[in-house]
Amino acid sequence: MENLRECFIKISNEYLNEKEKNFAKNSLGYFIRKDIPELIKNKINLDIKKYKVDGSCGQGGWAAVPWIAIFDKDITQSAQEGYYLVYLFDEKINKVYLSLNQGWTFYKKEFGKKKGSENIKKVSDKLKRKLLILKDRSYKDLEEISLGEGNLAKGYELGHICGVEYDLKTLPNENVLINDLINMLNIYLELKHLLYINDFSKIIESYILDDKLFITNEDELNFQVQESSSEEMEISPKKKLTPRISENGKIWPRDPSISKGAIEKANFLCEFDNNHQSFISDTTKKQYMEAHHLIPLNYQDEFENSLDVIGNIVSLCPTCHKKIHYGIFREKEKMLEKLYFERKKLLERFGIEITLEELKEKYKK
Ligand SMILES: [Zn+2]
Ligand SMILES: [Zn+2]
Repeated sequence: MENLRECFIKISNEYLNEKEKNFAKNSLGYFIRKDIPELIKNKINLDIKKYKVDGSCGQGGWAAVPWIAIFDKDITQSAQEGYYLVYLFDEKINKVYLSLNQGWTFYKKEFGKKKGSENIKKVSDKLKRKLLILKDRSYKDLEEISLGEGNLAKGYELGHICGVEYDLKTLPNENVLINDLINMLNIYLELKHLLYINDFSKIIESYILDDKLFITNEDELNFQVQESSSEEMEISPKKKLTPRISENGKIWPRDPSISKGAIEKANFLCEFDNNHQSFISDTTKKQYMEAHHLIPLNYQDEFENSLDVIGNIVSLCPTCHKKIHYGIFREKEKMLEKLYFERKKLLERFGIEITLEELKEKYKK
C-alpha cells in the first residue's frame, strides 16, 4: 500500500472483524504496527533521527482505540507521556482524528485518575490558547474529539490540544491528508518551541497549579478543606512539587483535597483520641476536624518525596491541633509518640522515613 488514505480504509473495513480474532500474529496488527509507520516516514520524508513513528492496536490484546503516533524524540518517545502527534481511531472505527495530544498515563500515575483528568485538561486548554496566538491555523478549531467510553479513550479526549477530524466513510483525498499531516507537524514543532522556553515538567506544574494550592498557612488550608472534595490517592511515594520562593523562604504547595482525604480516612475523628468531640461543621455536616502535617511542610527540603500526602496528614480536633503547635513540649511529645507509631508504616509506603527522635526535634522550639 502506498497511500495513507487506503491504509485508513483498510483499517475501517477490517479492524472490528479482526478484533474478534486472535491477537497474536494477526496481519492487520502487523500492518498497523509496521507498515503504516513505514509508509508515513516515506511519504513525508520524515527525519528519523528526529522523529519516531509507532503504531499500536494493543499489547497482548486488541485496543479499543488503535493509533499511529509521531514522536519528536526531543520531547518523548512514548504515547504514555509528553506531547505527540497521533492518528486516533474511535472505538466504533467510524472516525480517525489527527490530534496533537498528550500522554495520559503520565497524569494518571502522577495525580490519580480524578485529579489527573482535571490536570491534563487544564494543560490542553492552556496550550490550546497559547497556540491560538499563532495565526492561520484552522486546526485549532477542532475543540474536542470523541473516541468512546474506555479509560484510554477518555484520556486521549482530555489530552487533545488541536487537530483534524476525518469521517472514514468520506475521507478526503491523499493530498489533503498529507497536507494536514505536514501542517500538524509544524504545529507540533511550534509546541516544542513553546515548551523549550518553559521546561517540560515546569510547564505542566505551572499550568495545573492554581494559586489556591499555594496556601501559606494551616488556618487557610483548613478553611479550604471544608469546601474541597477529597481525592482518592494512590498509596505510593509522590514527587514533591516546586516551591514558590518568598521573602520568608520556600512555600510548599498544600492541596486541600489531599487533606480532606486524610480527614475522611480518619472518619472525621481526632486521631490523637477518637473520643474527642468538636462540633458539626455547617459546610460538611460532619464533625469538624483539622488537617495537620505530622512532618511539617517547611522541612520538605530534607525529604526526597512529597510530604503533602495522606500518609503524613493527621486529622485532629481543634484543641489537639492547637496543642501540637503551641503546647508545652511534654504534651506535644505524648501526641507525637502516639501519632508516630500509628503512622510509621504508612509514611514508609509514601517513601517518607523518619525516626521518632528526628520528628520530635522538629517540634522543639
Ligand atoms: Zn498543624
Ligand atoms: Zn483531639
